Amino acid sequence: MTKSIFLLDKMAQPNLVFIGTSGGGEAMLRQLRSTGGFRINGSLNIHVDPGPGALSTGRRLSQNPEDLNAIVITHKHIDHCHDAPLLIEAIMHSCSQEGKKPECCLIGSETVLYGDENKDRGISLFDQKRLGNGNIRNGNIIVSYSGKALALSSNGSQASIICTKTSHRDKTGFGFTMELDGIKTGYTSDTEYFDGLPALFEGCNILIANNIRPDNGGGLSGHLYSETTARLLSEVKPLLAIITHFGVTMLDAGPENEAKRISDKSGVQTVAACDGMSVDLLNLKINGR
Ligand SMILES: [Zn+2]
Ligand SMILES: [Zn+2]
Repeated sequence: MTKSIFLLDKMAQPNLVFIGTSGGGEAMLRQLRSTGGFRINGSLNIHVDPGPGALSTGRRLSQNPEDLNAIVITHKHIDHCHDAPLLIEAIMHSCSQEGKKPECCLIGSETVLYGDENKDRGISLFDQKRLGNGNIRNGNIIVSYSGKALALSSNGSQASIICTKTSHRDKTGFGFTMELDGIKTGYTSDTEYFDGLPALFEGCNILIANNIRPDNGGGLSGHLYSETTARLLSEVKPLLAIITHFGVTMLDAGPENEAKRISDKSGVQTVAACDGMSVDLLNLKINGR
């Protein structure tokens, strides 16, 4: 971990930092790896899918919530949203100390912000109101869904986001493509492969895929596994692919072994993320491995 922190301090921007690289029930509950999601840092700083460990592991990696411009929560599963209230708490705490109003946006699926069929929200109305300065319609709180285009701006910097479709248990979930500082990054979020998925990530320089299981996935639906990730990459052809969000079987199989198999099958350079790994997006240099 110390090595990663040293490298992160020297990391050129824009960059990606992987705070937690496991996902799904058992890997998360046993905390075989952290489950804190990842950050895209550049002229804007964005934390994506802050599951358990986003605050604690993020702090150890100098990925502090106080400098965030946005939190993106792609769907209401606990491995994607659990620590968001902690990030919001930290942002509110620093704002109250400095006498400022929060400017960080919260971008979430309908289930995250409005609630599921039982009206259970991923993020409480209380926290949404705090981040929205008492008003969830003031522009800080943004509900998103497949096909929605967003422009996120702060102090003259802008990120263009297009939300992509997913096929997953939470039907309101989304992935995205994001253009920030001249780099187009794609993120599948949790989804299974479907016709039309590759077209959504056309032109991405980097593609991050939630590859929860190895091989052929053992009949798992709603998620990508090595075989379908390779199929996706062979059609998208990004410069670099990063697999993350590993379940227990993936960790047992060895994410690096699976990344090599995916590279060989797809012809796309594929790297298995690990906690603390960072990627210099301009030069595609990978640190912390
Ligand atoms: Zn997940
Ligand atoms: Zn999920």
